[in-house]
Amino acid sequence: MGQNFDTKAVHLSRKNNQSIDSKVTPIYQTSAFKFSDLEDLENFYQGKKDYLYTRVGNPNTDELGSAVAQLEGAPKGVATSSGLSAILVGVLAVAKAGDHVLASTDIYGGTYQLLANELQDFNIEVSFVDFSNPGEIEKHLKSNTKLIYSESITNPLLRIEDMKAIVQLAKKNNLYTMIDNTFATPYLCQPYLDEVDLVVHSATKYLAGHSDVTAGVLVGHEELIDKAKAKVVNIGTNLSPFDAWLACRGIKTLSVRMERQVNNAQAVADALRKNDNVSKVYYPSSVSDKGNGAIVSIDITGSCNVEKFFQSLSWINIIPTLAGLETTVSYPLATSHRALPKEAQIELGITEGLIRVSVGIEDTEDIIKAFEEAIEKSKL
Ligand SMILES: *Cc1c(COP(=O)(O)O)cnc(C)c1O
Repeated sequence: MGQNFDTKAVHLSRKNNQSIDSKVTPIYQTSAFKFSDLEDLENFYQGKKDYLYTRVGNPNTDELGSAVAQLEGAPKGVATSSGLSAILVGVLAVAKAGDHVLASTDIYGGTYQLLANELQDFNIEVSFVDFSNPGEIEKHLKSNTKLIYSESITNPLLRIEDMKAIVQLAKKNNLYTMIDNTFATPYLCQPYLDEVDLVVHSATKYLAGHSDVTAGVLVGHEELIDKAKAKVVNIGTNLSPFDAWLACRGIKTLSVRMERQVNNAQAVADALRKNDNVSKVYYPSSVSDKGNGAIVSIDITGSCNVEKFFQSLSWINIIPTLAGLETTVSYPLATSHRALPKEAQIELGITEGLIRVSVGIEDTEDIIKAFEEAIEKSKL
């Protein structure tokens, strides 16, 4: 070619994509896509070409959105920059200024912040109600209520939401429902199949599964996902292609990871229930035939020195997240539920001795031994 060095360096020759059949989807780490002429560009706007600009759409983020939609049994999905941005665009797809959202009090701390503090500035009203008695929820509906929001397995006390009752109530009152399915994952529970309108995930957790990605996914009816997708594009909460690729890679092992983690969690819950120094073990039952999730919360208030307990946990680290391959512990009072008013903390059972355990894929006996030893060493 007759180009000079500086031009050649920029316009590297590249292989034609169509001729390369890689086993795995390549990473389309590109901010935009090229067009051969104006007609080709017009093709995008006519819907005959998929990609223009990565904020508007990218093969890797699309792959993640449809992968989760398929696992949830929903028609469509959209991937976003984080779990929280997926919740935001989901809410904005159904509620606008002047509308009201009714949410469960027992939700992830970051979601509480988003709903309680940020949505107010959009003039979207949010109130929080104890969802443990579905009969009570109806009393708190208002004439401007648009959405009922909760989690399939709540955090950190692992209550199972009565999805059927919530859906029934919503249908009766012409409201939308949105469920955060992060803790259960579609391996254990598929709220869309119970007619929940929007199902949201922090893909940062079990879907990606390796603690190396921050991502979110929202799935649901085509019409609602198209609205949410427009929010992603216009607000700019799109996910990076590389993070989408990592999350897709993680999803391929979701079943084997979950099977192992769920079995380990059941064993940890059973063992700690037998321990006299643990006053409460929060671990649900009857989530699904495949098990009850991989998060176990324990309360050691009054029987162990909490600081000493954390120090005595040998190879198990304090990490303020969950769902990784490694068993980790977190302290809701100081992290996820720190921002909650004191009364709300007490009401929810976020005590001084509450510890949330995210059970990993390690050897079952080793995990149990580490907890039993830490309890023994920190006993009051
Ligand atoms: C982590 C988490 C979120 C927030 O997700 P990010 O990816 O951190 O934005 C929302 N809901 C639940 C249940 C979570 O565990």
